[in-house]
Amino acid sequence: MLINRLTVIGVGLIGGSFALALRRAGVVGRITGVDTDRNNLARALSLGIVDEIAEDAVAGVSGADVVFISVPVCAIAAVVKSISAALPVGCIVTDGGSVKTAVVSQCDALVPPGCSFVGGHPIAGTEHSGAAAAFPELFMRKRCVITSGMTSTPAALETVSRLWSAAGADVCCMEPGHHDRIFAEISHLPHAIAYTLVHAVGMADVEGENVLSYSAGGFRDFTRIASSDPVMWRDIALMNREALLASIDGFSDSLADLRRRIDSSDQAGLTEFFTTAKQFRDGIV
Ligand code: NAP
Repeated sequence: MLINRLTVIGVGLIGGSFALALRRAGVVGRITGVDTDRNNLARALSLGIVDEIAEDAVAGVSGADVVFISVPVCAIAAVVKSISAALPVGCIVTDGGSVKTAVVSQCDALVPPGCSFVGGHPIAGTEHSGAAAAFPELFMRKRCVITSGMTSTPAALETVSRLWSAAGADVCCMEPGHHDRIFAEISHLPHAIAYTLVHAVGMADVEGENVLSYSAGGFRDFTRIASSDPVMWRDIALMNREALLASIDGFSDSLADLRRRIDSSDQAGLTEFFTTAKQFRDGIV
């Protein structure tokens, strides 16, 4: 047992899976759920994800050792602000948001003295949302990034790290800005491109044909993540604006490079371009 009381605010895919994984690992005593979506919260209770549900976040954090916030990134600081006065002394507040610089600096300023904020981001997910989509194996052998801020004590970092390890994740620690630049490239840019591709092809007009009706395995594999929650991705794009814009600019340069090689019928250049990409891709699977 690592902690007695865990409160999960936002019992969706990430919050629900975290609760299920910790329960299965036997490292937490009692789990309280809080969510603005009452139907989702009732589902979380009936699925055994949480032991009890609270009327609101203030009631939910009473007696908590750790509060895990897994709501859209733009809403995390507002949640911390709303619970700040009710947090028990010594409570650790942590999150699962996909953006860290803004979240950590906002939340550090909001946790009361005697409490700690530790930023977290599990590198695992699916295109589905809500408690019904949660499952305990989601974080198995996936990375989880922990970021420390002004209020992260060594003991709080250790507890959060041990919880994610118990959930099956490989934990690594990094500075929030470094996190945001890395995940702009490897996660936020691919989502932006997948949405853009489906958008462009969906709007394409080839002699009045519905082009999407011809989609097959390649298009569907490539664009799976464009079925993710649009509001979640709107918030991530806005919260990691600078790093994502830099990634989009880098990608635009790469696409322009490819366009030039096609336009000039540069056989050797195209072979080199595709071979380099294939080698990178083969290296990660
Ligand atoms: P989700 O399945 O939609 O669950 C979030 C839940 O939080 C929803 O039930 C939502 O209700 C509720 N909620 C929203 N605002 C709230 C508030 N102020 N107080 C209490 N509950 C609130 O979302 P998720 O996919 O688990 O994502 C949660 C967080 O994890 C996000 O910050 C995201 O960046 C991060 N993350 C997601 C993934 C992924 O692949 N999905 C991966 C890594 C990290 P409503 O639906 O009514 O808004």
